[in-house]
Amino acid sequence: MANIAFIGLGNMGSPMAINLVKAGHQVCVFDLADEAVSKVVAAGAVTKKTAAECVQNAQFIISMLPAGKHVDAVYLTEKTGLINYIEPNSLVIDSSTIDAATSCKVAQALAQKKIGFVDAPVSGGVGGAVAGTLSFMVGGSLAEFEQASPILEAMGKNIFHAGEHGAGQIAKACNNMLLSILMIGTSEALQLGMANGLDPKVLSNIMSKSSGSNWTLDVYNPCPDVMDNVPSSNNYQGGFMVDLMAKDLGLAMETALASHSSTPLGALARSLYAMHANTGNGSKDFSSIFNVFNLPSK
Ligand code: NAD
Repeated sequence: MANIAFIGLGNMGSPMAINLVKAGHQVCVFDLADEAVSKVVAAGAVTKKTAAECVQNAQFIISMLPAGKHVDAVYLTEKTGLINYIEPNSLVIDSSTIDAATSCKVAQALAQKKIGFVDAPVSGGVGGAVAGTLSFMVGGSLAEFEQASPILEAMGKNIFHAGEHGAGQIAKACNNMLLSILMIGTSEALQLGMANGLDPKVLSNIMSKSSGSNWTLDVYNPCPDVMDNVPSSNNYQGGFMVDLMAKDLGLAMETALASHSSTPLGALARSLYAMHANTGNGSKDFSSIFNVFNLPSK
C-alpha cells in the first residue's frame, strides 16, 4: 500500500480520495475548504495544516483542481509551491482537466527535481468517481504510466496510456468536444420529432436502435422523463455542469488553434454552451442545452 497526498477535494476529488482510503492506502488530504477536508477525514484519511506538509514522505501526489492556473500555482509558485517539498522519485498525478501546455510545463519543472509526472484527466463524472469506475486518459512516459496504474485502478475501471506528457489532456479535450456535439445533435433531433408530434420516448427508442445511436441517447437522454435517474429527469440538477463543459470546449478550441485544426462543429458547440452559460444556466447539467431548441410557447 502507498503513501498518497491528495490535493483538491471537490465534487470529484472527495469520492476519489475516499476510494483510495477504501483500497487500503495511507491518504493525507488537503483542500482550502475545511468542510471538504472533514468529509474525507471522516472516511479514514488524515490531514495536515498545509499541502506542503501533506506531500512530505508521499510516494504519490494526486491533484484534482479546477483549472490550469490552480495547478500551476499549487506546484510551481516560488518558495511555497509543492515542487519545493515533494521527495525525488515520487510521482505527481494531476487529474484536473486543464490545458496540455500547463501539464507539460509542470512535468518539465518537476523532472528537473527528479520527480515524475502524469496528466491523468478523467471521464465518468461524479457518479463514476463515487463508484470507482472512472476512465483515466494518461499522458507521460511508459514507466510513469506503469507507476501510476496500480493507484489509478483504485479509482477507475479503464486506464488508457494516451501518449507523452499532455496527451491525456488532448484526449480529454477531443472526447468532450465530441460529447458536446452529440448532446446538441441529439437535443435537436428530439426537439424536431416532438415539434412534429412524435413521443420523445418512442423517438429515442427508434434512434438508439438505428444509425443515430450514441451515448447521450443510450444513457443520458436530455429530454425530461424519457429516462429515470438522469439529470434531465431531475430538473437538470447533478451531473456535469454547463460551466465545466464551456471550459472544456474552450480548451478544445485552444488546442485546435495551436495545431491549425479545423473544428467547425466544436466551435459552434463552444459558442452554444457559452451562450447557454451566459443566460443563467451555468450550474445546470450540460444536457439542459436541450431547452435551447424549445419551440416558442404558442
Ligand atoms: P470542484 O470545484 O468541485 O473542486 C475543486 C476543489 O479544489 C475545491 O474543493 C477547491 O476548494 C479546491 N482547491 C482550489 N484551489 C486549491 C488549492 N490551491 N489548494 C487546495 N485545494 C484547492 O471541481 P470538480 O467538479 O471536483 O472538478 C475538478 C476537476 O475535474 C476540474 O478540472 C473539472 O473540469 C474536472 N472534471 C469534473 C467532472 C465533473 O463531473 N464534476 C468530470 C470530469 C472532470
